Amino acid sequence: MDVLTGPVLVLNKHFTPIQLTTTRRAFVLLYSGIAQAIDEQGNSFDFDEWRKVDVRAKDDFLPIVGGQIRVPRIVQLHRYDRLPRSSIRLTRRNLMVRDEFQCQYCMRKPPVRDLNIDHVMPKSRGGNASWENLVTACRHCNLKKAWKTPEEANMRLNRIPRRPKWSTAVQILMTAGGQVFEEWDPFLKAS
Ligand SMILES: [Zn+2]
Repeated sequence: MDVLTGPVLVLNKHFTPIQLTTTRRAFVLLYSGIAQAIDEQGNSFDFDEWRKVDVRAKDDFLPIVGGQIRVPRIVQLHRYDRLPRSSIRLTRRNLMVRDEFQCQYCMRKPPVRDLNIDHVMPKSRGGNASWENLVTACRHCNLKKAWKTPEEANMRLNRIPRRPKWSTAVQILMTAGGQVFEEWDPFLKAS
């Protein structure tokens, strides 16, 4: 793993998680005084303080003049009080996560490469791209349904598709791509 691209949790001034950023960006924010680093005990440090913090065996670090600097797992924007964006982006991946990578017609869970996104009301008949009209479907069901509605194709949807209601914490964890640090726990649990 490239240390500079690893994820860092960003908090607003009320300690509410906002998003993830990269280590590179976190250091820019820290160095320019826009953010403070937060350690595992919740203490905050500006750049000059943070460079004196011990680098433990389990820490990632960057080389600096005269030694090493620990990579922070959390930074706080101390003047930023906005809340995270609440809307969840309509993407192929988010649709599949909502549908638990399961074909919404036959309920099979084929490999992801065999999953398509199906327009419930076909695009050719005015069906739009929305949380309510898009579902995950296996290639087989997608072909079988073709330009028909589920009723016409005699196929039944597993459930009515809706916009998902994921918490900020869940959305942040989804973007972390499996790289999750225990220092994030108290903040994600509180959000
Ligand atoms: Zn299917």
